[in-house]
Amino acid sequence: MQTTSLVKDSVFSLPLDLMGLIERFKVSAVNQGFRVETFGQQGPFPLIALTKRSTGLKPRIYLSAGIHGDEPAPPLTLLRLLESGFFGSQATWFICPVLNPEGLKLGTRESPSKADLNRAFKIPIEPETQAHVHWLKRQPNFNLTLCVHEDWEAKGFYLYELNPNNKPSLADIMLCAAKDYSPIDLSPLIDGREANQGIIHTDPNPANRDLWPESIYLIAKHHAGLHYTLETASGFPLTQRLNTMDAVIRAAISSLK
Ligand SMILES: [Zn+2]
Repeated sequence: MQTTSLVKDSVFSLPLDLMGLIERFKVSAVNQGFRVETFGQQGPFPLIALTKRSTGLKPRIYLSAGIHGDEPAPPLTLLRLLESGFFGSQATWFICPVLNPEGLKLGTRESPSKADLNRAFKIPIEPETQAHVHWLKRQPNFNLTLCVHEDWEAKGFYLYELNPNNKPSLADIMLCAAKDYSPIDLSPLIDGREANQGIIHTDPNPANRDLWPESIYLIAKHHAGLHYTLETASGFPLTQRLNTMDAVIRAAISSLK
């Protein structure tokens, strides 16, 4: 099992240094040829998007993290992947790495105005969601979308799959990668939904959903061919969660056909 020490790297320790974290994203992205856009603002923090187009017929992959402020591992995982050079020429990238920076600073799931931004996509009235959607509307359709989360009640890693067109699933590949670092949550009911060996299939039809999370917006408006919401268990050590999510994302993207 790979172990990665994060102790000496202040950006990777809690509480998060949000300005430092966002700056690290910007610097590493620019150094690797990404375009860095500030699409909105939340308090003192910019809301940033990183995009990089690769030549040839490459999949368009969207990743987002940090929409829930009590889930620090997802943005840290994306930073580690970025700084390791993982987001290379194998895809065209669209990355929103820190969607609720004030929430992350305060350690609260919601935004400072007490909104769960991941339930606000059907009729976006929150300024952060409006800015995010405004940016998304300028982007093309995506082949794969990954929204990276954590769950305080989870007993291990699990995922949601939205696969409206029956594309080849990446779920088993991701669960297999996760197992090297974390148990899988094998509960038959996770987050109030039926689960099977760590996989939850939710109704991908936007018309059947009242509150749209980001995933449903992506399926509805970006015709995202395949979507996963990835969840590590918040009760595990931060380094273990980072290693789990890092392995899962690498496995999914490396296996995308
Ligand atoms: Zn979440």
